[in-house]
Amino acid sequence: MGLEVSGPRAQDAFDKKSPKRFPVFKRKGRHDSMRYPDPEQIRIDLCRYDGDGRLVLPTIFLPRIGWVKFRKSCIIGGEIRNVTVSRAGGHWYAALQVEKEIADPVHPATTTVGGDRGVAHLLTLSDGTMFLPVASYREHQKTLAREQRRLAHKVKFSVNWKKQKAKITRLHQKIAEARKTVLHQISTTISQNHAVVVLEDLKVRNTTASARGTVEQPGRNVRQKAGLNKAILDQGWGLLRRFLEYKLSWRGGMLLLVPPEYTSQGCAVCGAVDARNRVTQATFHCQHCGHRDHADVNAAKNILARGWQSTAGHAGVACSAA
Ligand SMILES: [Zn+2]
Repeated sequence: MGLEVSGPRAQDAFDKKSPKRFPVFKRKGRHDSMRYPDPEQIRIDLCRYDGDGRLVLPTIFLPRIGWVKFRKSCIIGGEIRNVTVSRAGGHWYAALQVEKEIADPVHPATTTVGGDRGVAHLLTLSDGTMFLPVASYREHQKTLAREQRRLAHKVKFSVNWKKQKAKITRLHQKIAEARKTVLHQISTTISQNHAVVVLEDLKVRNTTASARGTVEQPGRNVRQKAGLNKAILDQGWGLLRRFLEYKLSWRGGMLLLVPPEYTSQGCAVCGAVDARNRVTQATFHCQHCGHRDHADVNAAKNILARGWQSTAGHAGVACSAA
């Protein structure tokens, strides 16, 4: 749950020159955030009218900062547990963690679907549905390269350098937001249509721990564009998996992860595994039974079959225990 905080008072409190000098960050400039763990000290005023009876922006009371105006980005449903205030791309955000009791939902759909991750298509489902990759980064890449060249020509840590740096951060943020929007659309569609989704348990590199930095804050020595592109692909995939996981569980469905080995080389009909089965990037042709399919759809069907196997395995364990 995110809220955008605006107004000079929040920034003052984070400014080193401010007499309050609170809170203090470990390192200024990156990943600045501060958590307020005590819900007793936090107040939110959603409906406030000024002297002329006009509705003003909602305000939040934060200890040692006071009342701060904010733009509400979503409905606050539940009891507030804590607030985390952070800064990203020149904006301040307050993330509220809330607690509420909800009944266990029952998913309206009864279908199970397998999904294969790809490069040509971000995700291909075993029912033949294909989702195109998120192109937001490529679209913005030229602009980004241009702005980064401009940064290189400025005197480091000068006012203009800082301005340019902020511009680049905003651009990265814009790209990330665009990508998130698409991934939300995809995950919503899939989680509405299917009760169980099976995906490969791929090791997604932890981009935040990488020397390349994250997508929003790339490392300073990014020499290879390929590496960053890979990171973006990974992050897109990781996000999609996370979105699917919680959206499915909201609706009463579930996400299953299965081992990824040989899903693209195995035949979904006869089960024969052969590297020659993959004729081209897009075509699958089984050398044993002659089955033909789109390579990604065939892989998605294998993933779905593994999902069935894994649930059958669990059922077996339960039976033998009983
Ligand atoms: Zn076959």
